[in-house]
Amino acid sequence: MKKTKDIEWYKEAWESRKHQCQECGVHLPHFSPMYVSHIISKGSYPSLRNHPENFMIYCSQCHQLWEFGKRTEMKTYGEAMEIMDKLKKEYHESKP
Ligand SMILES: [Zn+2]
Repeated sequence: MKKTKDIEWYKEAWESRKHQCQECGVHLPHFSPMYVSHIISKGSYPSLRNHPENFMIYCSQCHQLWEFGKRTEMKTYGEAMEIMDKLKKEYHESKP
């Protein structure tokens, strides 16, 4: 996937939600790709990389938690897992 396509996806994702962290509620004053966290990681399902639902809006601290910390202890973990299951199901159903 090209970088330009990626940055568009980040911007569209950002514009489609409230500009606040879905985990801790902090207001996010300006766009940054850092605030858009992929739910399904980029490596495992390449075609879901730019899916319009494959993200959560997290501040940089919560993004760190999601990527490297104890995501299972996050209050949005369940919500994220529901989206993950849905997208994986769609992905597998789209395969012949
Ligand atoms: Zn946060």
